[in-house]
Amino acid sequence: MAVSEVEMSVGPHKTIALVAHDNMKDELLEWVGRHREELSRHTLIGTGTTGGLVNEKIGLPVERLRSGPLGGDQQIGARISEGKVDVLLFFWDPLEPQPHDPDIKALLRIAVVWNIPVACNRASADFIMSSPHMDTDYVRRVPSHIR
Ligand code: PGA
Repeated sequence: MAVSEVEMSVGPHKTIALVAHDNMKDELLEWVGRHREELSRHTLIGTGTTGGLVNEKIGLPVERLRSGPLGGDQQIGARISEGKVDVLLFFWDPLEPQPHDPDIKALLRIAVVWNIPVACNRASADFIMSSPHMDTDYVRRVPSHIR
């Protein structure tokens, strides 16, 4: 199905959403620690436990939503559809089934629909953070709101 699109301008200050499954939280924390300085220039939101750990262990402010299995992934998806998230760092666990698998799939789907950059592992997250687009204006094509 073809969808009409519009351009959406994103300024140098981005909103970055952080989600890590339990077995991936150490990796995400290690990654966030290495990128603390760059991340401090942006707004961070996260699922409940992930956001709490980033705040507590790394000292960065994070708006905490619900825990992932309790609806946090869906809250982030809703924010993406409202144009309020510019980057998704989603360290999902490739080796363990999750009870909220449908929500995970939905979050990854909506991130593609709204054309936001998504990293699911540390190398991809490194590439995104080193992009010049992180600190400059960027024009993203998004679905037209009226359909
Ligand atoms: P959590 O949620 O940050 O609350 O652990 C992440 C998830 O499992 O989706």
